[in-house]
Amino acid sequence: MEQTLIIIKPDGTKRKLVGRIIQRFEDRGLSIQKMYQGFLQEEVIKEHYDHLKEKPFFSDIINYMTSGPVVFVLLQGENVIQITRKMIGVTNAMEAAPGTIRGDFAVDASENIIHASDSEESAKIEIERFFNNKKF
Ligand code: ADP
Repeated sequence: MEQTLIIIKPDGTKRKLVGRIIQRFEDRGLSIQKMYQGFLQEEVIKEHYDHLKEKPFFSDIINYMTSGPVVFVLLQGENVIQITRKMIGVTNAMEAAPGTIRGDFAVDASENIIHASDSEESAKIEIERFFNNKKF
Protein backbone atom coordinates (compact mmCIF):
# COMPACT_ATOMS: atom_id res chain seq x y z
CA MET A 1 0.00 0.00 0.00
CA GLU A 2 1.24 3.46 -0.88
CA GLN A 3 1.56 6.24 1.71
CA THR A 4 1.64 10.02 1.48
CA LEU A 5 2.02 13.06 3.69
CA ILE A 6 -0.70 15.68 3.98
CA ILE A 7 -0.36 18.97 5.84
CA ILE A 8 -3.44 21.05 6.57
CA LYS A 9 -1.90 24.51 6.56
CA PRO A 10 -2.49 27.35 9.10
CA ASP A 11 -5.38 28.85 7.09
CA GLY A 12 -7.09 25.42 7.14
CA THR A 13 -6.85 25.03 10.92
CA LYS A 14 -7.76 28.68 11.57
CA ARG A 15 -10.90 28.32 9.48
CA LYS A 16 -11.75 25.03 11.24
CA LEU A 17 -11.73 23.02 8.02
CA VAL A 18 -9.80 20.05 9.40
CA GLY A 19 -12.80 17.76 9.83
CA ARG A 20 -14.27 18.53 6.42
CA ILE A 21 -10.95 17.97 4.67
CA ILE A 22 -10.26 14.69 6.46
CA GLN A 23 -13.81 13.58 5.68
CA ARG A 24 -13.10 13.90 1.95
CA PHE A 25 -10.12 11.57 2.19
CA GLU A 26 -12.10 9.02 4.21
CA ASP A 27 -15.05 9.27 1.83
CA ARG A 28 -12.64 8.48 -1.01
CA GLY A 29 -11.62 5.26 0.74
CA LEU A 30 -8.18 6.40 1.92
CA SER A 31 -7.03 5.48 5.43
CA ILE A 32 -5.55 7.68 8.12
CA GLN A 33 -2.55 5.89 9.56
CA LYS A 34 -1.33 8.66 11.88
CA MET A 35 -2.30 12.26 12.54
CA TYR A 36 -1.24 15.09 14.87
CA GLN A 37 -1.47 18.83 15.26
CA GLY A 38 1.67 20.86 15.77
CA PHE A 39 3.65 23.92 14.75
CA LEU A 40 6.16 24.00 11.92
CA GLN A 41 9.60 25.12 13.03
CA GLU A 42 11.19 27.62 10.63
CA GLU A 43 14.18 25.35 10.03
CA VAL A 44 12.00 22.38 9.07
CA ILE A 45 9.66 24.26 6.74
CA LYS A 46 12.65 25.88 5.01
CA GLU A 47 13.98 22.39 4.35
CA HIS A 48 10.53 21.22 3.18
CA TYR A 49 10.25 24.10 0.68
CA ASP A 50 13.93 24.14 -0.28
CA HIS A 51 12.96 23.89 -3.98
CA LEU A 52 11.42 27.39 -3.69
CA LYS A 53 14.25 29.12 -1.82
CA GLU A 54 15.21 31.35 -4.78
CA LYS A 55 11.64 32.59 -5.29
CA PRO A 56 10.80 36.17 -4.26
CA PHE A 57 7.87 34.91 -2.20
CA PHE A 58 9.93 32.39 -0.18
CA SER A 59 9.93 34.42 3.06
CA ASP A 60 6.16 34.99 2.72
CA ILE A 61 5.60 31.22 2.52
CA ILE A 62 7.75 30.63 5.60
CA ASN A 63 5.82 33.30 7.53
CA TYR A 64 2.52 31.84 6.38
CA MET A 65 3.41 28.25 7.24
CA THR A 66 4.64 29.20 10.74
CA SER A 67 1.69 31.53 11.47
CA GLY A 68 -0.44 28.96 13.30
CA PRO A 69 -0.97 25.28 14.02
CA VAL A 70 -0.95 22.73 11.20
CA VAL A 71 -2.23 19.16 11.06
CA PHE A 72 0.00 16.39 9.74
CA VAL A 73 -1.71 13.35 8.27
CA LEU A 74 -0.14 10.10 7.12
CA LEU A 75 -2.58 8.70 4.57
CA GLN A 76 -2.54 5.27 3.03
CA GLY A 77 -4.25 3.68 0.03
CA GLU A 78 -3.66 2.37 -3.46
CA ASN A 79 -2.22 5.17 -5.64
CA VAL A 80 -2.74 7.56 -2.74
CA ILE A 81 -0.11 10.04 -3.98
CA GLN A 82 -1.72 10.60 -7.36
CA ILE A 83 -5.25 10.53 -5.94
CA THR A 84 -4.58 13.12 -3.22
CA ARG A 85 -2.76 15.43 -5.65
CA LYS A 86 -5.85 15.37 -7.84
CA MET A 87 -8.11 15.92 -4.84
CA ILE A 88 -6.20 19.00 -3.61
CA GLY A 89 -6.14 20.76 -7.02
CA VAL A 90 -3.47 22.92 -8.66
CA THR A 91 -1.12 25.12 -6.59
CA ASN A 92 -2.77 28.45 -7.40
CA ALA A 93 -6.14 28.09 -5.69
CA MET A 94 -7.63 30.75 -7.96
CA GLU A 95 -7.17 28.31 -10.83
CA ALA A 96 -8.03 25.13 -8.93
CA ALA A 97 -11.07 23.30 -10.26
CA PRO A 98 -14.30 23.32 -8.26
CA GLY A 99 -14.62 20.03 -6.43
CA THR A 100 -10.97 20.06 -5.42
CA ILE A 101 -10.02 21.08 -1.87
CA ARG A 102 -8.18 24.21 -3.00
CA GLY A 103 -10.88 24.95 -5.56
CA ASP A 104 -13.62 24.75 -2.96
CA PHE A 105 -11.96 26.41 0.03
CA ALA A 106 -9.35 28.91 -1.21
CA VAL A 107 -8.76 31.70 -3.73
CA ASP A 108 -5.13 32.59 -3.12
CA ALA A 109 -1.86 31.57 -4.83
CA SER A 110 -0.07 31.23 -1.53
CA GLU A 111 -2.68 30.50 1.16
CA ASN A 112 -4.07 27.36 -0.37
CA ILE A 113 -5.15 25.29 2.65
CA ILE A 114 -3.29 22.06 2.10
CA HIS A 115 -0.06 20.30 1.12
CA ALA A 116 0.21 16.80 -0.34
CA SER A 117 3.43 15.03 -1.39
CA ASP A 118 3.85 15.16 -5.16
CA SER A 119 5.85 11.97 -5.86
CA GLU A 120 6.91 8.68 -4.31
CA GLU A 121 10.31 10.13 -3.58
CA SER A 122 9.01 13.25 -1.82
CA ALA A 123 6.38 11.23 0.09
CA LYS A 124 9.15 9.04 1.50
CA ILE A 125 11.27 12.02 2.55
CA GLU A 126 8.31 13.95 3.98
CA ILE A 127 6.91 11.00 5.97
CA GLU A 128 10.38 10.53 7.43
CA ARG A 129 10.62 14.26 8.21
CA PHE A 130 7.24 14.64 9.93
CA PHE A 131 6.45 11.18 11.34
CA ASN A 132 9.28 8.74 11.57
CA ASN A 133 11.52 10.99 13.64
CA LYS A 134 8.82 11.24 16.29
CA LYS A 135 7.86 8.82 19.01
CA PHE A 136 4.15 7.95 18.91
P1 ADP B 1 2.33 22.53 -4.29
O1 ADP B 1 2.00 23.01 -2.89
O2 ADP B 1 1.09 22.51 -5.17
O3 ADP B 1 3.06 21.21 -4.31
P2 ADP B 1 4.80 24.08 -4.76
O4 ADP B 1 5.63 23.02 -4.13
O5 ADP B 1 5.25 24.65 -6.07
O6 ADP B 1 3.28 23.61 -4.99
O7 ADP B 1 4.67 25.32 -3.78
C1 ADP B 1 4.62 25.17 -2.39
C2 ADP B 1 3.74 26.22 -1.78
O8 ADP B 1 4.33 27.51 -1.97
C3 ADP B 1 2.36 26.36 -2.45
O9 ADP B 1 1.44 25.40 -1.98
C4 ADP B 1 1.98 27.77 -2.06
O10 ADP B 1 1.54 27.84 -0.70
C5 ADP B 1 3.31 28.49 -2.20
N1 ADP B 1 3.50 29.05 -3.56
C6 ADP B 1 3.87 28.36 -4.68
N2 ADP B 1 3.91 29.17 -5.76
C7 ADP B 1 3.56 30.39 -5.31
C8 ADP B 1 3.44 31.69 -5.94
N3 ADP B 1 3.67 31.86 -7.25
N4 ADP B 1 3.08 32.74 -5.18
C9 ADP B 1 2.87 32.59 -3.85
N5 ADP B 1 2.98 31.41 -3.18
C10 ADP B 1 3.33 30.34 -3.90
